Amino acid sequence: MADSDNIPHIALLPSSGMGHLTPFLRLAASLVTNHNCKLTLITIQPTVSLSESQLISRFLSSFPQITPKEFHLLPFDPSTANSKDPFFLHIEAIRRSAHLLSPLLSSLSSPPLSALVTDITLASAFLRVTSQLHLPNYILFTASAKMLSLCAYFPTILESSTEIDESFQIPGSSPMPKSWVPPVLFDLSSLFTTQFIENSCIMVESNGILINTFESLERETLEALNDGKVVDGLPPVIPIGPLVPCEFEKSTSPKLKWLDGEQNGSVVYVSFGSRTAMCREQIRELGVGLVRSGCRFVWVLKDKEVDREEEENLEVVLGNELMEGVKEKGLVLKEWVDQVEILGHPSVGGFVSHCGWNSVTEAAWHGVPILAWPQLGDQRVNAAVVENSGFGVCVKNWGWGDGGVIVKGEEIGEMIREMMSDEGLRLRAAHARDEARKAKEVDGSSEKGLSRVIELCNKM
Ligand code: UDP
Ligand code: UDP
Repeated sequence: MADSDNIPHIALLPSSGMGHLTPFLRLAASLVTNHNCKLTLITIQPTVSLSESQLISRFLSSFPQITPKEFHLLPFDPSTANSKDPFFLHIEAIRRSAHLLSPLLSSLSSPPLSALVTDITLASAFLRVTSQLHLPNYILFTASAKMLSLCAYFPTILESSTEIDESFQIPGSSPMPKSWVPPVLFDLSSLFTTQFIENSCIMVESNGILINTFESLERETLEALNDGKVVDGLPPVIPIGPLVPCEFEKSTSPKLKWLDGEQNGSVVYVSFGSRTAMCREQIRELGVGLVRSGCRFVWVLKDKEVDREEEENLEVVLGNELMEGVKEKGLVLKEWVDQVEILGHPSVGGFVSHCGWNSVTEAAWHGVPILAWPQLGDQRVNAAVVENSGFGVCVKNWGWGDGGVIVKGEEIGEMIREMMSDEGLRLRAAHARDEARKAKEVDGSSEKGLSRVIELCNKM
């Protein structure tokens, strides 16, 4: 189906949320800039968050050679789906509009499409469409290979008659504690779980799974996936990460100049990604912990899951007294920041992170050690990858960020102090950075992975 010049025409269709959109846009930038592909970017309209629509605009103005297509959702009644999460509901709305993709893809004829790359959360809905059109379909998996192995193996766990005890074994990997599994997966009637199972089952029908990880970070898991140990008949799982942050993502905040006056490696950066808002009590304990840690810090605080709904100012969220204490020791922000700029700043020496996979890969890219505090979903599995590779630590008894356990400031402060003074962690983080960069060199494993994807597209 590819054109005569062997330049494939690839359509990319990202899912909802910055954690899914960002890696798709980085992949698009890399395919156009380094691999000379013809690209169409299909964006869902409307988006849940303002950050998503702003990033799409910046991306499209930076890459006028990419064809933009808007995918407009059908009206959707959230009361017909079993979830309150705005991002899961949006994903359901996209899935229910999937049949509208067929005429859109058919209209992309010059040159004819070689393949569609879509997100795992949308896979089962869109693979039906691409198979009717006889169009190759790739999945971009935006989390760790360890999470992919859980996703692929999950239907087998459900089929088994034995109850999961404390841990279970995914073939080819060491036992996985039950406590790492996203809690929502224990509720088989939840919207997330029904989608998760459908997507897991359909993976064998895709032409390949691209994944934002790199060989040396997750070698054992990647081998198990590709050797057919996890699931028989899985298509090639191709590591292409870390997907590298790009120019179009940059936003300058004069407030971050503050970092320039701090000593190298002395500042801890604290952020829980684009969509995690801790409860007020935990936010305040975290503030106390940061002050007690004795470290300088940049803390990005979120009070609402969706950025458009943020309304209270910092003084209201923290209270005046804590706000004063925090301001003396660090920089606290309640806005979108350029995380990659912060992680790449020489003053930053540690990252308190929820371990969203993009955050993990960005920390690896800049060699910043992680204190992992997973809050939901895949984050415990991702945190285990970080711990296993040695550039981070995870406190096991801090619970999920559901307000069930409130971690006290004193304990938080102590853990931050320990992380910031751990020389071994810094050395291992520097090693992770070197490995990540090697994977992205022209003849590195992940760049070779991308070339393989293009060859596969051209053969179709
Ligand atoms: N991010 C950012 N500034 C913010 C919050 C988040 O640049 O203020 C970026 C972060 O660098 C990452 C993405 O948003 O690329 C968040 O994805 P991740 O997988 O880490 O977590 P999620 O938001 O999906 O939980
Ligand atoms: N996931 C999956 N199949 C699905 C939905 C999710 O494998 O149908 C995985 C995927 O790795 C995703 C993770 O579960 O990154 C957590 O999903 P969620 O939407 O909670 O978090 P996000 O990635 O938006 O932070």
